[in-house]
Amino acid sequence: LEDYQGRRVVVLGLARSGVAAAKLFHKIGAAVVANDRKPREQCPEAEELEALGISVVCGGHPSDLVTEDVAIVVKNPGIPYSADPLVRAAELGVEIVTEVEVAGRISRAPIIGITGSNGKTTTTTWTGELLAAAGLSPLVAGNIGRPLCDAAEEIEPQDWLVAELSSFQLKGTVDFKPRIACLLNLAETHLDYHGTMDDYVASKAKLFANQTEEDTAVYNADDPAVLKLSEAFRASKLPFSLLRSLDAGVFVEPAYPMPGSDVSPAEGGDGSSASPAERWIVYRPGDGTEHRIARVDRLGIPGRHNAANALAAIAIALAAGAKPEQLREPLESFRGVEHRLEYAGTFGGVKYYNDSKATNATATTMSVYSLPAPLILIAGGLDRGSDYMELLPVFRERLKGVVLLGETREKIRKVAEAAGLTSVKVVEPVGDAADTLRLAVKEAAAMASPGDTVLLSPACASWDMFPSYEVRGRIFKESAHTL
Ligand code: ADP
Repeated sequence: LEDYQGRRVVVLGLARSGVAAAKLFHKIGAAVVANDRKPREQCPEAEELEALGISVVCGGHPSDLVTEDVAIVVKNPGIPYSADPLVRAAELGVEIVTEVEVAGRISRAPIIGITGSNGKTTTTTWTGELLAAAGLSPLVAGNIGRPLCDAAEEIEPQDWLVAELSSFQLKGTVDFKPRIACLLNLAETHLDYHGTMDDYVASKAKLFANQTEEDTAVYNADDPAVLKLSEAFRASKLPFSLLRSLDAGVFVEPAYPMPGSDVSPAEGGDGSSASPAERWIVYRPGDGTEHRIARVDRLGIPGRHNAANALAAIAIALAAGAKPEQLREPLESFRGVEHRLEYAGTFGGVKYYNDSKATNATATTMSVYSLPAPLILIAGGLDRGSDYMELLPVFRERLKGVVLLGETREKIRKVAEAAGLTSVKVVEPVGDAADTLRLAVKEAAAMASPGDTVLLSPACASWDMFPSYEVRGRIFKESAHTL
């Protein structure tokens, strides 16, 4: 980064990652301007930066912000490339990156980058625990934990920087080269930002673009879109699979198929036909040997999707140098992350689960299959243009009833009706957003009988009603507790 000493650097977006990047460039002697469209009152970070001598401009993007002499623009991942300063930077040929790229340039430790449409936080957190149990000293950062730049600045060469990475962050990378890269899955999501599925997939693919033979690519061999991308990987490949035994890779034996319509709800649990107790996670390094890592039914968190997350975390840990026998304990003791299929309590004989983080149809499908029927689902939220028809099979096979709220309530109602569900309740907005959600929880409780399960798994982001999925999840939990 020394190249930027004395040069102008623009940081666009004053969120945590922007603040970290601004401080970093300031420290190396760049002339930093931090800019945010939000008015000054909504930029609490401004003061801290100004105290350091960094110039901060809030309340809009000045037209002279990006000029020819700007060396680099570090943008917040959420800012679209159509924003004025970015259009201008592109015209002038000024480099535009996200904070991840900067972190990659300064980290003295090898980086583990984990991405995918679903399961990033769970897998990243789990990976951190597996590495720690194996004595490998991980520092978990990025979308979770502290900003990546911060972590990258202080990390020691013998540590591992474990980063959860979104497609938005990856789109702004250039030379980023993780020692271990992991792609969990590719579902149709974030189309509002990326415009097309191709752009979204291309962003995810950037994680692998600079890898070479000494690096490792961990990927989901069960996902056709991922498998297709993997053909272009240059790193050493370490696939994982729930469906097939692999000559080299991490897999489940016997196979763990998606639960099908022939499975009776009475079997409950993950609804699969083979007895889960028989299933083992197996690692084959590719030298003819084989290691049994752990039993699937003993994993710390339920559901087939979490078994996939476990496979990914195991593959990463092994690639980082963990020994197979070090992994069983942290696989069994992991308790998951808040708002992800989180058990919220039993009230009136009905179990409540908070899965507020399920912000697309695939995530909701996975969660519904992970819990025993009879199940009542609370869903709906921000409309990102999907028709939710993906939910049709799971609605048909697993649900007793559905309660809908948010912008997408009518769209999902059509799916519920197409699935032949008779218990469908659409909650119109009442009072504020919290009141509406409370009402939805009451409606779900009214549909449920003792022994049933109520699941909040919206299949949509929360921003039509709430500031975040965390707020939505907490209101859900409070509502269940006060039933
Ligand atoms: P992310 O960080 O990618 O949003 P999380 O680990 O926070 O992922 O999980 C979010 C939700 O996605 C979970 O509540 C669950 O419903 C679903 N999910 C988790 N892992 C997977 C997976 N491997 N495949 C599909 N859905 C998943």
